[in-house]
Amino acid sequence: MIYKRSSELFALAQKVIPGGVNSPVRAFKAVGGDPIFIKKAEGPYLYDEDGNKLIDYINSWGPLILGHAHKPVIDAVIDIAKKGTSFGTPTEIETKIAELAVKMVPNIDKIRMVNSGTEATMSAVRLARGFTGKEKIIKFAGCYHGHSDSFLIQAGSGAVTFGTPNSPGVTQGTAKDTLLAKYNDLDNVKELVEANKDEISCIILEPVAGNMGCIPPAEGFLEGLRKICDETGILLVFDEVMTGFRLAPGGVQERMGVNADIVCFGKVIGGGLPVGAFAARNEIMEYLAPVGPVYQAGTLSGNPLAMAAGLAMLTELDSKREIFESIDKKTAYLHEGMEKVLTENNIDFTINRVGSMISVHFGKEPVTDFASAATSANLGTFNKFFHGMLENGIYIAPSAYETWFISDALSYEDLDKTIETVDKVSKTL
Ligand code: PMP
Repeated sequence: MIYKRSSELFALAQKVIPGGVNSPVRAFKAVGGDPIFIKKAEGPYLYDEDGNKLIDYINSWGPLILGHAHKPVIDAVIDIAKKGTSFGTPTEIETKIAELAVKMVPNIDKIRMVNSGTEATMSAVRLARGFTGKEKIIKFAGCYHGHSDSFLIQAGSGAVTFGTPNSPGVTQGTAKDTLLAKYNDLDNVKELVEANKDEISCIILEPVAGNMGCIPPAEGFLEGLRKICDETGILLVFDEVMTGFRLAPGGVQERMGVNADIVCFGKVIGGGLPVGAFAARNEIMEYLAPVGPVYQAGTLSGNPLAMAAGLAMLTELDSKREIFESIDKKTAYLHEGMEKVLTENNIDFTINRVGSMISVHFGKEPVTDFASAATSANLGTFNKFFHGMLENGIYIAPSAYETWFISDALSYEDLDKTIETVDKVSKTL
């Protein structure tokens, strides 16, 4: 494939944008080469500036669960844009999307809209601290909760891709309040809780991790965390930015039957526009301004365009619940197909999958936490795999530490083409 125009555009971008991108993993720095500039997208396909057509397994890093330019979402945005883009006053549509979210997600009474997943988790932790009166938090190595200071400690996703899981610029004062635990290791959490008695406000985690590849919670892990929190008064915060409205209408809380105290959303809830949200039962949400003392705000929070896109997306998912089964089946089909061809080609691999989140790791050992994800990252093999897929028109995340996001727009023909390509590329690894 030829990427001449993309490379020209990237050269121009680098002159005025740091690294030429507005979010690091887009830059292809980890895999080498220039990133591809996209001109338009429809359904499961991206069309780049050079006229190449790609099957998309990133889907804007998760939001586009129904594929690109999904008509009900686009129509809703166009309609509302004609009436003005932002008022800075309450609007009816904010209540509509909140009502629907509260109906779809178990165990929440109220939800507050923000503009990104980062804002959602940052605000959730402030709320947890305000509610409990305690300052420390427990996070897990390899989990990514956006780029606010408290979370850039052994963070996954782009932070680890670029070798800076602990970012300069985060003060030691902030870092000392973030306690680090091993994913899927309850004993480790118990030790931390014991050693910091009465100082911990919350335990935050991706209840299915997606930022060190996909890592499912071990059996009993979420239940164990729930129990620790119940016994100690620590709040359990599920960062469902990736999993929310994807793994089930009510996210992991519904799919795995474990309740959190605060839940964070992003990605799907905005239908591809900038939206995040956090939600909890009344008792906790009433600690938020203007009712309660914990301050949190946003000029563009609840923006009409974003709410229209999100409402259209959630309405689709709520009214066509078969989508969740359909997308899980498609991902299982891809899983089986890739497993078969990778095995036939004698590649060392591990595929992790929960519902429509899936990742391929180029190592034989089980990938259950950050350390095993790093061991199996096998960057040389991954990079070859990535470029081989791309050369054949398949766009996966340009990092070994990311999950593939399946959209329901993918047809079985697209999946077959992808499996054939994995077969072809495996022979070159
Ligand atoms: N939490 C999780 C689990 C995420 O995957 C991400 C982004 N990938 C975030 C938080 C941050 O969201 P945003 O990029 O919208 O700030």
